[in-house]
Amino acid sequence: MTQKWDIVIVGGGLAGYVAVNYLTKANLSILLVEKGKSIGGRARTNKVNQQYLNLGPHALYKKGKAKSILNELGISLSGKSPKLGGILIENDNEYAAPLSLLELFTTSLLNGKERMEWIAVLLKIMSINPENLAEQTFQQWVMQVGNSEKVKSLLYVLGRLATYCHAPEMASAKIVVSNIKSAMGGVLYLDGGWQTIIDQLHNKAIISGVQVQSHTFVKQIDPVQQDQFKLILSNNKEIYAKYVICTTGPHELNEMLNKKVNLYQNSFFNQITAVRGATLDLALTQLPNPRRLFAMGITDPLYYSVHSNYARLSDDTESTVLHVFKYHHPDDHIDRTSIKNELEQFLDRLQPGWQQYVITKRFIPNITVNQRLPLIGDEQKLQRSKTEIPGLYIAGDWASPNSILADGAVSSGKQAAEEIILNEKEKNSESYERRLPSF
Ligand SMILES: Cc1cc2nc3c(=O)[nH]c(=O)nc-3n(C[C@H](O)[C@H](O)[C@H](O)COP(=O)(O)OP(=O)(O)OC[C@H]3O[C@@H](n4cnc5c(N)ncnc54)[C@H](O)[C@@H]3O)c2cc1C
Repeated sequence: MTQKWDIVIVGGGLAGYVAVNYLTKANLSILLVEKGKSIGGRARTNKVNQQYLNLGPHALYKKGKAKSILNELGISLSGKSPKLGGILIENDNEYAAPLSLLELFTTSLLNGKERMEWIAVLLKIMSINPENLAEQTFQQWVMQVGNSEKVKSLLYVLGRLATYCHAPEMASAKIVVSNIKSAMGGVLYLDGGWQTIIDQLHNKAIISGVQVQSHTFVKQIDPVQQDQFKLILSNNKEIYAKYVICTTGPHELNEMLNKKVNLYQNSFFNQITAVRGATLDLALTQLPNPRRLFAMGITDPLYYSVHSNYARLSDDTESTVLHVFKYHHPDDHIDRTSIKNELEQFLDRLQPGWQQYVITKRFIPNITVNQRLPLIGDEQKLQRSKTEIPGLYIAGDWASPNSILADGAVSSGKQAAEEIILNEKEKNSESYERRLPSF
């Protein structure tokens, strides 16, 4: 492998691959290093017994930044939007979810007064500018706009659904409300899973001459001199780069910098808490109750959705792929067995007898959904991808000032690439000016 690169990208998930695809427009040598055996990070899809399982439930916002940037890169996104609605569960009672027009007026969850309040709150969300909520937590905002307990709990359900964050007393209202707005514009479940995005980005990168080295992790990043980083890989090889884009989590970045470099940003990176959850990903030969396609707990932070009803997720046409999910609070104690029971019991009540139809089943008790639980004021520390170390840039779902999840990963990947391209242009024009004869 070549030892010297213009750019090394650490991590082959959405952020890394989007950055690569923008950078191929500049005439620079690029290496992407991914520690996993396969590429894709958390956007990867595993094919098991002819079934395509995303790593937990994945829905792409139709009005989100990720979709528009992926479109800009020529990535085709085929799939369908799940119908709004389904059921909400509270204390063993089931109610139609007041998310679609019909259910808004018919659900027994709300009385007349609560129904009018809920409609008013939904209209308010549609017209609100989330920028005006930058100083509030989501809980503070909910207390301000909601009157009845029912409407407040519905807002928490929507917040979890749109962001996976289950800490309203900590999460920034600006980010949660902006994601709820985005979710109201609809989502897509993708045919073949999210790996289709990664594979297209990967193929385009390879065609443009990018080198990808998987199954290798970067152990250390040392800024050795101006315009030069030394990276030590897991096979102990040393490589050099002019620029590094790091798309790992903030704590992993700190470890790679090996405490040699005392970034002012370090303390902020160290304080970042992740958004986490537990996922039960399943493929069944059939659904015991085919009409049950979507459900959430009102107080219990649980989610269930049949993704294959809208996206092609198996090689045969008959089987069903679905996800059951539990949103974790950062303070939750994670007990593997009890969480698994909780998810399976939730599925039991929705699809009694599902166990006899299992093709494949995967349970992950504590997975990082987003590397950063967005807090008030985070955006000020994340305005630029550039770090204090010249040449070192950050990207990933934690690194974008105004977005999280795929929108954060994709937009920060694009931003890091654009900042590098701009930096190169500025350097080239400076050296051109220096070479001009002075009169
Ligand atoms: C259960 C679940 C559900 C989700 N649902 C949604 C959803 O519905 N909608 C949505 O928009 N988003 C969703 N997401 C979030 C979305 O998947 C992520 O935000 C996005 O994939 C993150 O991309 P990334 O590139 O920032 O990070 P990653 O995908 O984590 O990529 C970082 C890569 O860096 C690699 N790496 C780490 N350290 C090193 C190292 N030292 N050397 C080399 N490589 C390294 C990792 O292996 C990884 O591949 C969900 C995530 C999960 C887990």
